[in-house]
Amino acid sequence: MALVALRNVTKTYPAPEKGAPPVVAIDGVTLEVEPGDVYGIIGYSGAGKSTLVRLVNALEPATSGSIEVDGREITTMPERELRGIRLGIGMIFQQFNLFNSKTVWANIAYPLTVAGASKSEIAARVAELLEFVGLTDKAKNYPDQLSGGQKQRVGIARALATSPRLLLADEATSALDPETTQEVLALLKRVNREFGVTIIVITHEMDVIQSIATKVAVMDGGRVIEHGDVFDVFSNP
Ligand code: ADP
Ligand code: ADP
Repeated sequence: MALVALRNVTKTYPAPEKGAPPVVAIDGVTLEVEPGDVYGIIGYSGAGKSTLVRLVNALEPATSGSIEVDGREITTMPERELRGIRLGIGMIFQQFNLFNSKTVWANIAYPLTVAGASKSEIAARVAELLEFVGLTDKAKNYPDQLSGGQKQRVGIARALATSPRLLLADEATSALDPETTQEVLALLKRVNREFGVTIIVITHEMDVIQSIATKVAVMDGGRVIEHGDVFDVFSNP
């Protein structure tokens, strides 16, 4: 069974100004992400990638169509149940979205605190995550004392804190230099292989897809114009 399945999903935003047509951000998208996939979604700016991520994470409602996460239809789910779905999905972002007033330790602990974990559970889990991302010696530092790559490693640790099955990476390496990008992608590969976490990677960079993704959907104008194994989609006959 697919971990994420979209069927004929559309998302329309109201017209930005009077007289203008509504904005069709997602236009009839169907795609399936299987457990264990590293699924790339590539497209130019405005293609609809970020909107797709917000729909899967139930941060915004779809206009029509069906979205199943782990076999459960989320488009008709009440808000209190959606909170449970969101807890099972980790997210990392281009600008890292760390709490600048919290230490590295407290950033990683945050989702566990929200989820109501005990102090001893939190301490053990944060220590394990710090070790996994190689930042044990930075526990007491603040985000502005870290490099971009280190910040994203904190972002990854925080996203994994509640042991989600799915990680959504929205342009997660776009603010990083090529070398740091490869380090972060290598860490994401370990997240996929060692923990079996399914990853959806949103990017406008072909290199990122070729480094990490096994499957890819190419988006343009809110549509998926091509999808399949990375090798098949990007090999030139
Ligand atoms: P991408 O992530 O591929 O750059 P987006 O999903 O951000 O694409 O945007 C897809 C389209 O939807 C764009 O035309 C964008 O302007 C529009 N859009 C995105 N979010 C909103 C919003 N909240 N309100 C109105 N239009 C939006
Ligand atoms: P504040 O937000 O008040 O500046 P911190 O961000 O340093 O405090 O830490 C927030 C919480 O995390 C505090 O309860 C603190 O005791 C705990 N904490 C911070 N670092 C560690 C650590 N290395 N081991 C265990 N607990 C920690």
